[in-house]
Amino acid sequence: MKVLVLNCGSSSVKFQLIETSLEAIKNDTEERLAKGIIERIGMPASIIKFESRDNQPYRATAEILEHRVAINKVVQLLTDPDYGVIKHKEEIGAVGHRVVHGGERFSTSKIIDPDVYKEMIECIELAPLHNPHNIKGYEIAREILPNVPHVAVFDTSFHQSMPAYAYIYGLPYVLYERHAIRRYGFHGTSHRYLTFRVERITGIPRNQFKLITCHLGNGCSIAAVKFGKSIDTSMGFTPLEGLVMGTRCGDIDPAIVLHVMAKEELELHEINTLLNKHSGLYGISGVSNDMREVIKSADKGNERAQLALDIFCYRLKKYIAAYAGAMGGTDYIAFTAGIGENSPVVRQKSCEGLEFMGIKIDQERNNQTVGKEALISTDDSPVKVFVIPTNEELVIARDTVRCINGVI
Ligand code: ADP
Repeated sequence: MKVLVLNCGSSSVKFQLIETSLEAIKNDTEERLAKGIIERIGMPASIIKFESRDNQPYRATAEILEHRVAINKVVQLLTDPDYGVIKHKEEIGAVGHRVVHGGERFSTSKIIDPDVYKEMIECIELAPLHNPHNIKGYEIAREILPNVPHVAVFDTSFHQSMPAYAYIYGLPYVLYERHAIRRYGFHGTSHRYLTFRVERITGIPRNQFKLITCHLGNGCSIAAVKFGKSIDTSMGFTPLEGLVMGTRCGDIDPAIVLHVMAKEELELHEINTLLNKHSGLYGISGVSNDMREVIKSADKGNERAQLALDIFCYRLKKYIAAYAGAMGGTDYIAFTAGIGENSPVVRQKSCEGLEFMGIKIDQERNNQTVGKEALISTDDSPVKVFVIPTNEELVIARDTVRCINGVI
């Protein structure tokens, strides 16, 4: 079956067309037929990028003022006689939608029926910046492809297995009861992919190992995965908590928020922007939110860039040690996403000093691993450390097929 995977953000639509089936999932033989992105939707020059298995890549700029036009463009590209990979949109057998927040309602992916749709709408209050775009994407796609199943795959659902002592904050309990204030965690699709992949690479069933997964992209999160289930993760009620990120602060003393609001006379939206957009690598270094730029500047002697890099890696190291503690040790660590896949320096620095826990990085293997799957620990390292390029779209396509076949 050909599954269209859609990820609708505020100003972008990412998509892939993946040929998959229960048999292909079992044998790991799915095929990506096409992928693309439409960026800067609603801005003067939207950028369209499209690559397919069979044809030359397509690049263009166009005026795409709204998501409806963008999703129609996706279907048009897929069926284009020159660039496309299918003849008719009817060849698309199902659509898998990335949805950021599933609250406590969704611990697995779901076929979107009227009840699920209603519950998705109710989750908007938990993720007002993200969920409306995901849901809008679904509504439009449903109009364009009305006769196929649509499946929602939630970023939060993998972490619904956390025990209450990991997800309840040290706040009045009534806030959990009244407003659902708790840790949810995000990037679940990526943490889950790493778990599947480690199972595949090692040949050991996931219910028999402990794993720490480090998703280090623009947003960063880490998860403790014990016997196949997430038991803790660093992002919280929102994606702001945890590791230092490109522009997000990660863990801070919450009293700082009150103090800074008073001292700088900030409104709610201003402090929100400060914490989410002006902090992290960017805020500390004053150079960039891009780890490549931060490392480059640090190498040239920029002290604040060096400090940003040091803080990033130190925080990560503390979380790795904490999650090993939470699980009573770990068998594996997996690094993924832009920084995790491509930065030997970050991987080295964040594992340095953890030899006492059985983590020994092989310098040469680490340095040679950029953007590919590999083992980067020494042969005698008790904890095996992997780099695994993430593939969230594949997980969405797989869940779509599994839901349709009733095996989720
Ligand atoms: P997103 O979270 O938006 O999906 P990515 O997973 O693509 O982000 O990660 C983007 C980040 O990856 C960039 O901000 C950059 O800091 C980092 N990155 C990409 N390549 C490298 C590299 N070679 N070295 C260090 N960091 C890198």
